[in-house]
Amino acid sequence: MPWEFVINLYRSYTSYLKNLYGQPTYRIGVDAGFSCPNRDCNRFGGCTYCDDMGATAVYHRSTESGMAKTGQVNQSLMKEDVSTAKEHSMQMRKQSIYEQIHKGKEFLVRRYRAHNHILYLQSYSNTFGSIDELREIYDHALKQDDFVEFVIATRPDCINEEIADLIASYKSDTIKDIWVELGLQSGNEQTLTAINRGHTVAACEKAVGILRERGIKISLHVILGLPLEGYSELEETASVVRAIAPEAVKIHNLHVPIRTRMYYQYQLGEFNPPAQRRHISYTIWFLERIPADIIIQRVVCDTPSHRLAAPVRFGAKGSFVHQLQKEMEERGSYQGRLSIEDEHHVGEA
Ligand code: SF4
Repeated sequence: MPWEFVINLYRSYTSYLKNLYGQPTYRIGVDAGFSCPNRDCNRFGGCTYCDDMGATAVYHRSTESGMAKTGQVNQSLMKEDVSTAKEHSMQMRKQSIYEQIHKGKEFLVRRYRAHNHILYLQSYSNTFGSIDELREIYDHALKQDDFVEFVIATRPDCINEEIADLIASYKSDTIKDIWVELGLQSGNEQTLTAINRGHTVAACEKAVGILRERGIKISLHVILGLPLEGYSELEETASVVRAIAPEAVKIHNLHVPIRTRMYYQYQLGEFNPPAQRRHISYTIWFLERIPADIIIQRVVCDTPSHRLAAPVRFGAKGSFVHQLQKEMEERGSYQGRLSIEDEHHVGEA
């Protein structure tokens, strides 16, 4: 059993990294200017909880102005021919990536004396583009530092064999681990339809198989407390996680950002997102039912308060983690306590 697990009751990501590298190691989250097929391809505006920040690192939020998305060009370029406009857009993205990484490095060194960095393409769907575009962006971003890991967040329906081959090709003596973070969110198909995820559980399992064949590590994102979900739906999600057996999981509490479709459903009283007490119960319940060796990268969301409609009575991240661990200790609870061994794992022969 890893030492970090014994101390923390669940296998925390911070402890995992400390154990692995023996020095402060942090991610540099980057908005690389990708978009998302679920927002842009006439799929009714994306997931019902999606706001227009698409998950952005805290230290990039001072203006929250975002950056040019794929295919979006400055108005002054409207009269230029398409190839010139695309080239201009690519140059703007590269400049932004350069600035974000160097700003992130400077922040991490100053705040944590962290010289070991992980490149994290975080915002939107970072495999949504042509193979040439992906290569150009990845090459450029990875050149900015001696990153020890490369992490790409995306959707299950934005993974295919060609893209997985490209991602796997970045493994080297310096970049020891490559991860893809996939949004599963729920193991219940009706929920996936209701929140307009635009993919199925099977699509997620297929993407995992393609990535795993190439030695790419998997982190699954799940949301606990989605509308109309209770413990039986949570069990479906836990069951999918057990079957996929990812190296890591990110647990999010349900956040309702303003000006999203979920926000209007919330205003109509159609559901109530879990407050802190309920999310602690859900998280403990969930942790007990997934294997002990899965790294827990996150247990709570951090949408900035000025964009968050609900839940409003929720402690800061540190206090949530403290309460969670206290309650786990009191209950004699720990990750994997009730996890059962599934017969078949996704991506295994
Ligand atoms: S996959 Fe992410 S970026 Fe795309 S619509 Fe859903 S929440 Fe938004």
